[in-house]
Amino acid sequence: MGKESRWAAVCFAVVTGCLLLALVPVRETAVETAGGAQVSVTEEAAPKYIALTFDDGPRADTTAVLLEGLNQRGVKATFFLIGGQIEGNEWLVRWMAESGHQIGNHTFSHTKLQGSRRDTIVTEINKTEVVLDQLLGEGEYWLRPPYGVIDSEDKKLVKTPMVYWSVDPEDWKVLDTDKVVAHVTSHVQDGDIILLHDFYPSSVQAALQIVDQLQEEGYEFVTVKELMRLKGTEPQAGRLYRNAWEERT
Ligand SMILES: [Zn+2]
Repeated sequence: MGKESRWAAVCFAVVTGCLLLALVPVRETAVETAGGAQVSVTEEAAPKYIALTFDDGPRADTTAVLLEGLNQRGVKATFFLIGGQIEGNEWLVRWMAESGHQIGNHTFSHTKLQGSRRDTIVTEINKTEVVLDQLLGEGEYWLRPPYGVIDSEDKKLVKTPMVYWSVDPEDWKVLDTDKVVAHVTSHVQDGDIILLHDFYPSSVQAALQIVDQLQEEGYEFVTVKELMRLKGTEPQAGRLYRNAWEERT
């Protein structure tokens, strides 16, 4: 090999080496992708947002454990409170608000609004609103009608948006942490609203396990209000939303 060709061979080796080095990270990504990680790469690029919602609290022992766990995990949730249960649990409601959770109204006595007289509907909503206003200052406390139902013609009586759900593991019925976790983690999608009850210890444990598992899968937990803002939905008073975009009809 002459001097010139040797020089050419060195140049070729250097250039090839540089090219290979430059390619390494790309190749690694490609290999990982081929290995089945493509989904998680996509997930990281576009976070998925969901809302955990809790009905039928506050209840001193269970709700306190839940709040502690959610705060440790940096999760914001939404609580639909029964007004009649707030007395004696005011500290919990203040703690929720201070932690950045959304607080909503689940009527004063957990009355089924569907089929109720109009004055009963208005009184059941207003009594809880008064308690929350006194405790937290005047705010907009969205309504979750007990059992998720209200007659269509009575929706106009409600001066805030209403929240239904799109994932329901029936935690109050199964009272089984593993089953609740399995149902939610296998059904959940971006934009979903998950129904749970902080009234039951099994549901509180399930909620924290759901957070741990779904955070690993790239989900971010936000309040219902934030979920709708992130998805570009303008919440309207008197409408019942089942997820970030759709109304329950
Ligand atoms: Zn309820």
